[in-house]
Amino acid sequence: MLTGIFDTHAHYHDGRFDEDRFAVLEGLPEQGVCGVIECGTDVPSSERSRALAEKYPFVWFAAGIHPEDCGDKPLSDLEEVRSLAAHEKCAAIGEIGLDFYWPEPDRETQRVFFERQLQLANDLGLPVIVHDREAHGPTMELMRAYRPAGVLHCFSGSVETMKEAVGLGLYIGLGGAVTFKNARKAVEVAKEVPADRLLLETDCPYMAPVPYRGKRNDSSLIALTAAFLAELRNEDEQALADRCRENALRLFSKIK
Ligand SMILES: [Zn+2]
Repeated sequence: MLTGIFDTHAHYHDGRFDEDRFAVLEGLPEQGVCGVIECGTDVPSSERSRALAEKYPFVWFAAGIHPEDCGDKPLSDLEEVRSLAAHEKCAAIGEIGLDFYWPEPDRETQRVFFERQLQLANDLGLPVIVHDREAHGPTMELMRAYRPAGVLHCFSGSVETMKEAVGLGLYIGLGGAVTFKNARKAVEVAKEVPADRLLLETDCPYMAPVPYRGKRNDSSLIALTAAFLAELRNEDEQALADRCRENALRLFSKIK
């Protein structure tokens, strides 16, 4: 069994964990999971994430407003994000970014929320957890402009974009999606990410790796993603999990 697994992206505040949230979280350490970053997607979910971080020593949290959730939010919510970020267990600003897959919220609103939160992270000296769905060009433009520390989570860009991101100092988050049959691009990226920039993540309850695709995901299933990546990269699974944990602790430096 793998040990020392660090899940850099989870949503245990999600309603799909309402039935058994505490049982799932309490079962993680015995399945080799030593750390979780629980990501908010708006103010209430960031507060729920904070509560989980306060309850469990191995959970930290990120506060932020997700691009899909910014449509009906006042900009004053960013002040709430700022105060949440002062918490000793807030490791990052996230989940923030751009999502051009859906027509709503409009792109300009998404960009305003994203830019404000990139600026906030830089002001506070915190890394960012970035969601980029079908918005690689504009996301990279903002990465060049703001130069944040952070991770491009569930990375779906090309090898070329990955290399540029790494050149800017960013980390690349890979999760269950890399194991999907149609994940040709992500597989090419996974082979080439420098070992010191790779992060493991779930995005649970979403993105369960094969053979659990479509089912509810949780941090214990990272072992399957790690095994898949280790085989692709011709590495030892445990060594890969250890290196990814070290990378997470380097990037999310508030975690002790
Ligand atoms: Zn997420």
